[in-house]
Amino acid sequence: MSVAGRDAITPLDVAIVGGGLCGLALANSLNAQGLSQAVYEARDRLGGRILSPRAINNGLALDMGAAWFWPANQPRMVRLLGDLKLASFPQHDTGRISQLVNADGAPRIVDVDDLHNGAWRIEGGAGSVIDALVARLPTTALHRGYVLESLCEQSQHIELRFGSTGGPVTVWAHQVVLALPPRLVEERLAFEPPLNGQLRERLRETPTWMAGQAKLAVAYGGPDGVSEDGMSRAAFWREEGLSGNGLASYPRAALGEVHDACDALGFRAAFNAFFALPADIRAQFRQGLPLLAVSQLAQWFGRRAQAGEVHLHDWAEEPWTCATLDRMPLEEHPDYGDPVLSVPAWQGRLHFGGSETAAHGGGYMEGALEAAARLRREILVSRVTLGEGAGP
Ligand SMILES: Cc1cc2nc3c(=O)[nH]c(=O)nc-3n(C[C@H](O)[C@H](O)[C@H](O)COP(=O)(O)OP(=O)(O)OC[C@H]3O[C@@H](n4cnc5c(N)ncnc54)[C@H](O)[C@@H]3O)c2cc1C
Repeated sequence: MSVAGRDAITPLDVAIVGGGLCGLALANSLNAQGLSQAVYEARDRLGGRILSPRAINNGLALDMGAAWFWPANQPRMVRLLGDLKLASFPQHDTGRISQLVNADGAPRIVDVDDLHNGAWRIEGGAGSVIDALVARLPTTALHRGYVLESLCEQSQHIELRFGSTGGPVTVWAHQVVLALPPRLVEERLAFEPPLNGQLRERLRETPTWMAGQAKLAVAYGGPDGVSEDGMSRAAFWREEGLSGNGLASYPRAALGEVHDACDALGFRAAFNAFFALPADIRAQFRQGLPLLAVSQLAQWFGRRAQAGEVHLHDWAEEPWTCATLDRMPLEEHPDYGDPVLSVPAWQGRLHFGGSETAAHGGGYMEGALEAAARLRREILVSRVTLGEGAGP
């Protein structure tokens, strides 16, 4: 067994488990406090439910997880993008909508204004937020491929046991933040002593937003997608007065909705779509899903929609996002921010985070930032009450 981050007798001030937006935003804000801290992430990449790979054909960042924020009521996202000097632009909603009401028929073309309620997108994809946060942290404080398996309360610190490709690793920390979807905390982690029954129940009853979903992205054209008159031809739907928004309301539709995912100027073109089929059905038809999805795109927007580079990401198949209960489709956005999850356990040493613990913006990127701000306050207060540092 090896020891990561610090030697065996000097616990870290704070161990942050989970390198998604919540964990990374928290690590950034604690950095300024001069605490010894490290982030431990199960995957070999950081970002969690934010993932923006580049299309090979046109270099466009494709948001396979989070894409939108709503500047009108998400001030933390607005502030963070300003701090990180990242540009953003409104979701392209101009034009008519293509609506499918049966499996074989032609689409209905309808007018709907502002389908996405004032949503904006981030230039370079939501992944550029993660890249910018990571760039501000010392690389020695970021540990990828560390899967937390169990936690044990000791008198002055917490012992964390991780699985890693190099074998088991033990870490000691005065305070621990679980910046994870609450359901994963309850389902995957062993606690010694066990967490109390009410806390476990609340963790289990908090659904992980979008964890059971899958997204499709299809990118069109080459890197410059611009014709001689300076206009884009890659986003062919825009030429026909279509917004790129499509809805499907018939039973067993592969995709439920699609939208324009071009860059800010519409030069590099793409669609982004959400699957309508639930996780278990997708698992049965995995091989055929891309073909099924692309033929539905053609039904919405014509044959040219079939000639793109296809990316598919099924979050329900990702063990570090989707708990067993999350495979059941959600009917609506849950009420997040259960106050029980904002109370630290184990004398103030163990903190629960992740977007789903936030009362405002819970489930969204905004919620991940709100949770990070609450956790920072909690940690600084606990340092005082535990007698381990100066006040906030
Ligand atoms: C398909 C999809 C679309 C979405 N669309 C939007 C959108 O348009 N706008 C929006 O605001 N939000 C959207 N979201 C939600 C948004 O992505 C999340 O709110 C946000 O990214 C949550 O960040 P987080 O850090 O709280 O959690 P996560 O991103 O889930 O991060 C948790 C991290 O913990 C790690 N982890 C898990 N278990 C362990 C373990 N045992 N040990 C170590 N590490 C572990 C995970 O690998 C992960 O990196 C979407 C999500 C999905 C999946």
